[in-house]
Amino acid sequence: MRRDGEPERKENILLLGGTADARVIADALAGRMNVAATLSLAGVLSKPPKLALPLRIGGFGGVDGLAEYLRENKITTLIDATHPYAAQMSRHAALAAEKTGVRRLAIWRQAWVAEAEDHWHGFDDWPSLMAAVPAGAKVFLAAGQDGMQALPECPDFDVMARALKRPNGLPSYVTLIEALPGKTMADERALFLENEITHILCKNSGGESSSAKLLAARDLGLPVMMINRPDAPPQPYFDDAESLLDAL
Ligand code: NAP
Repeated sequence: MRRDGEPERKENILLLGGTADARVIADALAGRMNVAATLSLAGVLSKPPKLALPLRIGGFGGVDGLAEYLRENKITTLIDATHPYAAQMSRHAALAAEKTGVRRLAIWRQAWVAEAEDHWHGFDDWPSLMAAVPAGAKVFLAAGQDGMQALPECPDFDVMARALKRPNGLPSYVTLIEALPGKTMADERALFLENEITHILCKNSGGESSSAKLLAARDLGLPVMMINRPDAPPQPYFDDAESLLDAL
């Protein structure tokens, strides 16, 4: 408890975002007394969505750059709410926090777990996944920019991809849907049937915002080829925004 005359401690938070969890945290922090917070995005989208906090965009320049940012801006808490596959950013966040003594809290969303009717196949990297796609397949690629960058030059399979932004240099053979993931199993099922999709290619991102495609794949008996998860960041980490906010 604060004693009389003692100045109230003001939290100065840097929130590493790019996920739905980060948006929930940003909304919650925006209304808090004695909290100043800035949201940081990698800058993948040309037009970032409207968010509740002041924004900074782009990399920090590695661990040292982030450590300098934390010191210069007198950050008291670093929240890593990046995507589970943003392993480099999470590693940098842990190292920079250790270096500067800044408190760090992270989100580590639980992975999706296969059920008996699922046909999931895990791969350690994109080249081995792409090499295992059977000739004549029609794949649905829902794996962000790195999945599209990993596409072979002249594959012997067809590709439909879904992403929020067309990446530079996307091969001309790809049919791109610029959209968010389908919200319901029925939407995804209809999309896969209409386009005669035979395989789903994705990451095991966890959470609900992009899980409908897996329910549709289960219903249609489609194989799902997934990049295995990177290791979890160092503790402390939390399953979701709500539990991180409770700890904060
Ligand atoms: P990454 O490989 O971990 O990060 C690469 C670099 O991007 C980082 O070292 C950092 O640059 C910069 N960076 C990443 N997140 C940042 C943030 N919130 N604020 C400022 N700089 C940031 O991750 P990624 O390249 O962003 O994504 C890897 C995979 O995760 C992709 O498949 C992507 O689709 C998926 N993903 C990531 C996010 C995310 O939260 N970053 C969101 C949705 C999906 P410096 O080293 O220069 O600081």
